[in-house]
Amino acid sequence: MSGFWSEVVHGLTPYVPGEQPKIEGLVKLNTNECPYPPSRAVLDAIAEAGGDALRLYPDPECRALRDAIAAHHGVDAAQVFVGNGSDEVLAHVFMALLRHPAPLLLPDISYSFYPVYARLYGINVDSVPLDADLRVRVDDYLARPRNGGIVLANPNAPTGVALPLHDIARLLRGNAHSVVVVDEAYVDFGAHSALALLPESPNLLVVRTLSKSRALAGLRVGYCIGAPELIEGITRVKDSFNSYPLDRLALAGATAAMRDQAWFEATCARIVASRARLDAGLRARGFDVLPSAANFVFARHAASGGAQLAAALRQRRVLVRHFRHPERIADYLRITVGTDTQCDALLDALDDCLRRSV
Ligand SMILES: *Cc1c(COP(=O)(O)O)cnc(C)c1O
Repeated sequence: MSGFWSEVVHGLTPYVPGEQPKIEGLVKLNTNECPYPPSRAVLDAIAEAGGDALRLYPDPECRALRDAIAAHHGVDAAQVFVGNGSDEVLAHVFMALLRHPAPLLLPDISYSFYPVYARLYGINVDSVPLDADLRVRVDDYLARPRNGGIVLANPNAPTGVALPLHDIARLLRGNAHSVVVVDEAYVDFGAHSALALLPESPNLLVVRTLSKSRALAGLRVGYCIGAPELIEGITRVKDSFNSYPLDRLALAGATAAMRDQAWFEATCARIVASRARLDAGLRARGFDVLPSAANFVFARHAASGGAQLAAALRQRRVLVRHFRHPERIADYLRITVGTDTQCDALLDALDDCLRRSV
């Protein structure tokens, strides 16, 4: 607390990211990073961009990157906005498109950054509970027509559960008066993208990140795709905040990443295969595992509590994510799909924990 703070600062509850500890030999399965290094083409492009040109400001319009993203998705560059990680993209989206008198609809269990942005921008939130199976029920949103927008992660975080495309289509059609943001941070690991609905949906905004499926969490690049009118609004906010959110290295690396389709497909396939192994390994040890379409699984043990298991794993140098709140998910662990070797190390550590009953 400081008397020098602006009024708004006193009321903020900042997001708390998963920890990044420096522990020797740590098996780090807590923040959904990719266990494999980025594509060679990305590293080469960054090395090349790191020369004399760093003297100069980067392209404020991020043209080459937006063209590469547009080409990858078969859309126009005018439908693409890029930012310093999808977290920054989301922040601008909340400010540009979701700040209305009517409340914003958010699932009660989802990416915990959403309510943080709402608070920062003074947006009222109407929290919509997931059903008993921790699924989003589209009808619960359609039953609240007085809203200033809807934000869903698909697949959802931290559950990993995906919503089928026909449900998203129904939501977009039934909620035509406000923007529906679909955060597809994990879509590349097995869900259907709402981008297919873009031509008929002027109210759809799809958010993506290069942090997970392109192994570039450290580069900080995210983007969103929607009608040019939506992109123009978000760009107005960005240009009132920071002209150069992406530096030359990020632009070069991200552009190369979007062009390397072979690396992308091979890496996603490896992670999906490891997820099936991890899922089976957890079930064999008495875990109830939600069906995941992401690069993590959300699982709870029949006999051992989530907090104790997470702490016991940490003692064995295996880091997973545990959420104390809300109560409904306090017994679950969110476990990032690592390499098969990392997943085996997790399962071995779990055997040890469960043998000693934590
Ligand atoms: C990881 C994640 C993000 C943030 O991604 P960055 O691009 O690294 O900022 C956004 N939304 C969800 C649901 C995520 O899990």
